[in-house]
Formats: sequence, C-alpha cells, structure tokens
Amino acid sequence: MDSLSVYVVGAGPAGLFAARKLAAAGHRVTIFNRDVRPGGLAEYGIYPMKHHMKAGLRKQFAKILAMPNVEYYGNVALHCDGPLSCESLRAWQPAAIVYAVGAQGTKKLGMPGEDARGVYSAKDFVYHYNALPPFSSQDFSTGRRVAIVGMGNVMVDIARWLLIDQPGAKPNEVTVIARRGPFEVKFDEKEFDYVEQFLDREAFREELARVSEVAAAAGQDVSTVADSVFPWIKTEPATPSQSKLKFRFLTSPVGIEADIAGRIERLRVVENLLIRQGEDTKARATDKESALPFDTLIFAIGDVADPTVGLPYGKNEYLCNTDPSDPDRAAYEVFDTATGSIITGDYLVGWARKASEGLVGKARFDAERGCDYVLKYLEHAPARSTPGSAEILDELQARSEAVVTKQGVERLFQAEAGQAQALGVPEFKYPTNQEMLGAIGELREAHCAA
Ligand SMILES: Cc1cc2nc3c(=O)[nH]c(=O)nc-3n(C[C@H](O)[C@H](O)[C@H](O)COP(=O)(O)OP(=O)(O)OC[C@H]3O[C@@H](n4cnc5c(N)ncnc54)[C@H](O)[C@@H]3O)c2cc1C
Repeated sequence: MDSLSVYVVGAGPAGLFAARKLAAAGHRVTIFNRDVRPGGLAEYGIYPMKHHMKAGLRKQFAKILAMPNVEYYGNVALHCDGPLSCESLRAWQPAAIVYAVGAQGTKKLGMPGEDARGVYSAKDFVYHYNALPPFSSQDFSTGRRVAIVGMGNVMVDIARWLLIDQPGAKPNEVTVIARRGPFEVKFDEKEFDYVEQFLDREAFREELARVSEVAAAAGQDVSTVADSVFPWIKTEPATPSQSKLKFRFLTSPVGIEADIAGRIERLRVVENLLIRQGEDTKARATDKESALPFDTLIFAIGDVADPTVGLPYGKNEYLCNTDPSDPDRAAYEVFDTATGSIITGDYLVGWARKASEGLVGKARFDAERGCDYVLKYLEHAPARSTPGSAEILDELQARSEAVVTKQGVERLFQAEAGQAQALGVPEFKYPTNQEMLGAIGELREAHCAA
C-alpha cells in the first residue's frame, strides 16, 4: 500500500488511537489539536485523583506520538471563521481527514435564567478542576447548596470533587436532580462508593416515600431499591459527615431565579410522572411546580458537538452518511447537506461522532472501527501532492500564536514531572497556556518549531 498523508483533528483517545492505526498501516499522520497537550478528556475530564489510569494512558499516548510517521501540532484549533478551518485543511489535499474533536458544545435546556452566575455545564466545571486553559483561570465558584442535574458517572465525579477534593470550604448540601427515579441511575456502583458516606440516608428514605406512588404506577417497588441500586442505604456510614448528599427524583428544572448580584438563588422545577415504555421508562412533566433554594447549579446531562468547527451540523451533532446499504461504514462518513452527498475522505470518530458516549475503551474501539473504513478508502484514494511537515508547520506558525510539536510535548511533560517531584505531589499541570509554552522553552522557541 502507498504511504498517504492523513490528517487527524483532535488528540483525545479517539484521535490518538486513530492515528496509531493509520500510522501502523504505513500512512503519514498529522495530528492537529486544540489543546497544547494531547489526551483530551483523558487529561482534562477523567477525575484528577485517578493518577494510575491517567499515567497509563499518557504512556500509551507518548508511544503513539513517538511513531516516526506521526506528527503532532498542538495549540491549533479548527474554527469555521478562524485561520485554520476544515476548508484550509482540505486545501492541503490530504488523502483523508479523521475528525476526533470530541463533544465540545454545551447542551442548553433553553430555560429562563440559564445564564445566571453560578450555573455551569459539567464539561466546563470538570475542565476547570482538571486545569484546562482557559477554564482553569475562570470563575467556577461554588456555594453551600449545590444542585447537580443528571445521574451518571460525571455527576458522581463532580459530587466527589465538591465533597472531598475541592480546596476550601465544602458545601453543606449537594442535591442530585434527576428526571426519572432511583431505578434509572446511570452511575457505576464502584464510582458511587467514593461518595456514599455523604449520602443522607434519612433524607433518601423520605425521598423514596415521596416518589413511591408515581414509581408504583410504572410498575416499580421502591422498597427494593436497597437490594438493587442503592445498597449503601442498608447501613449507616462509618464516619458521618457534615456535608450531605441528597437526591431529588422525578424532577425537571424549568427555570432559574437569580439574586440581585445575578447569582442563582432558586431553581424552579416541575415534578414528573414515570411512564413505562417496554423495558424502559420515560419522564413526563406535570404542572406541579416548586422552587428549590440553590446557589450553584451544574448540568451533568451530556454534551453536544461544537458547531463552530465547521463540519455539516444537524441537531446537536455532526452529520454523517445514512447509506442504508452499509449503515455501519456510512455512520463514520461526513455528510454535506449543501450538496446532498458525503464529503469524500472526511470521517468522524469517538465523541465527535456520538457525543458523551462511553469510556475511553469505547472511544478507542470507535476510532479503530472507523479507521478500518478509512484504510479501505485509502486503498483506492487518488495520490495527491500535499505539503510536507516543514511546510505545514510554517503555515500553522503563520496562522497561530504558538504551535507545539511532539518534541515540545515531551519537554512539557519533563518540566511538569520535575515540578511534581519538587513539590512532592503525584502530578503537576501548568494551568495556563502561557506557563506551558514557557516550560516548553520560551514562547518564541515553541513558535520556531519546538
Ligand atoms: C468528566 C468525565 C470523566 C470521565 N471519566 C472517565 C473515566 O474515569 N474512565 C474512562 O475510561 N473514561 C472516562 N471518561 C470518558 C472519556 O474521557 C471519553 O470516552 C474519551 O475521552 C472520548 O474521547 P474523544 O477523543 O472522542 O474526545 P476527547 O477526549 O474530548 O478529545 C477531543 C480532542 O479534540 C481536541 N479538539 C476539540 N476541538 C477541537 C478543534 N476545534 N480543533 C482541533 N482540536 C480540537 C481537544 O483538544 C481534544 O484533545 C470521562 C469523561 C468525562 C466527561
């Protein structure tokens, strides 16, 4: 097979494992990444104290970047109106482009008051505590009464951060707001173990009593909750905590009221019915409304694709092919509604293809599966004249503030490892691009091919 030039946009798990598969097949892979450092959510999403998991992934990613036919350009974001766009990448005529930009858009419920201070999306909040610029330097202050909307693992991570690891004062109460009932939790038991000691057992039993009738109408018996989904309520925590973790089931937010300083003061909610649909259940809002006092609200309801990347965009997602003759392959191909056909050679993988779906292993699987189709396409892709790596770097440097190469990333990791050792901490991350670029070796040096 001829060695062709393939671009990968995004260096999260999906982009990096895609790069590995394409490079292992002999192609020349160029990665363009918004963040200075590679890793995506493996760096900036996975819980900060999961050092072992993060270190293991970092090792695998370092091996991928070390492949001789893989180039990396960090601190380079694709934007439809920016100096680097999908069109400018296509103009360099790579044989294929694999988009692995993740789900960087924010899901909005479109309710009044959503822009109040103290209201955050989980992605931004998690980026903040994982030190991703610019979120790392922005205000994500939390108060004494925090609501988290959503019942997945991300909710648990955020509760864990607020109740255990966040520096400074801890909240008095963290309340999980869930559309459906206790049987519809989405988190893993072993993740909830981290915060179970904060679960207010008495309040939880009262909450079960409050929703028991509605649950019963959907064929659920809340008296069995302890045996199935909430085993923790069978026992009291060994060390009772000042901060309490509570649940408010069958509840949907409908509006936010702010105080005179513009910070959230109350969350208006409606109560829901639970409707059985075969094996599944669905929430249906009633007109029973109330207002709950909170000074912080975090939406952990999943994310959506970022429309500003410039790929054809539908409702919250990039558009992919719907060819019924081969739906699996088609689901990875970018579809252009303007022309009514696929954009030949453009592919989507990972969370860019299916937002907020699954763990790293799933993103990897998706990327590798997508690359099976990319590789098949490359077998017959036309040979084109594409710029070499020096030319691409020159072009990027002309368009960007400071481009970070894979050698620069190595220097960054060395500098951060040195800092961690000096401070006696398991991990250290520079929280601003300025500091990262400085550590790589002067802004100017990073600019001139790190
Ligand atoms: C809070 C949280 C906790 C998690 N914890 C775990 C866990 O404990 N274990 C686990 O296995 N999984 C965990 N996951 C899931 C895991 O992080 C994802 O499955 C995985 O990171 C998705 O990979 P991805 O490459 O598709 O997207 P991402 O990881 O989001 O990577 C996207 C990459 O694209 C780049 N990018 C974005 N926009 C642009 C642009 N415009 N131009 C160029 N580059 C761009 C970004 O810089 C980033 O490098 C967690 C996820 C979250 C949100």
